[in-house]
Amino acid sequence: MALIVQKYGGSSVADTDSIKRVAKRVVETEKKGNKVAVVVSAMGDTTDDLIDQALSIDSNPPEREMDMLMTAGERISMSLLAMAIHAEGSRAHSFTGQQAGFFTDTRYGAAHIKAVRPDRVKNALSLGDIAIVAGFQGINAKGDATTLGRGGSDTSAVALAVALGADICEIYTDVDGIFTADPRIVPSARRIPSIGYEAILEMASCGSKVLALRCVEYAQRFNMPLHVRSSFSRRPGTLVVPDDIDPRTLPNLD
Ligand code: ASP
Ligand code: MG
Repeated sequence: MALIVQKYGGSSVADTDSIKRVAKRVVETEKKGNKVAVVVSAMGDTTDDLIDQALSIDSNPPEREMDMLMTAGERISMSLLAMAIHAEGSRAHSFTGQQAGFFTDTRYGAAHIKAVRPDRVKNALSLGDIAIVAGFQGINAKGDATTLGRGGSDTSAVALAVALGADICEIYTDVDGIFTADPRIVPSARRIPSIGYEAILEMASCGSKVLALRCVEYAQRFNMPLHVRSSFSRRPGTLVVPDDIDPRTLPNLD
């Protein structure tokens, strides 16, 4: 039995039909005999819409209130996904960043994770539940909500995977992995089946469009294997692995 962290980005949970589709995929992974913790981004353009609303009220809103607002996006997707998993007949329990034990510094809007103590997530998994965690957020020493910077859910997922001792962190997006160039611009671009952390960090132009750089650095620091793949297809994606791991030994590759 493997312990798998799956992260679904905003385009994968853009509306309720997409959330139902993701729920099926999560349950399928669980039914194969794995323990599954899921990190979600906010639905579609929710974060941009929240920012627009704030700016229509005040061109320079207080940072603390901005983070209170932005953490709301992931609360919507996490609870809807938990409901969709229930509707599929499995048990799921959602957690905010605070409930999942994400402790950060006080840089509102660009907070850094200082510690992850996911006791409640571990407990849910040990009871046989699927744990759903709101990405991109934590709590600071004052007890206030913080956000990790745009695209921060990737980093949340890797940090959770490390704290849980997961076997792999799967990052689900709307492209089939990482390509040699942007396939929408360069038609001859090829998917990279497997690559090291350093090489991704050097490919800033194409690799970083798919993965937040901080997430890759975090994964490298703790040797956490990543599988970047599409939630819209069944095709294999790109494995990002430490040199000493044979990618074929990783779980849930089909
Ligand atoms: N919802 C946040 C954003 O759009 C975090 C994320 O998607 O990773 O930046
Ligand atoms: Mg987003």
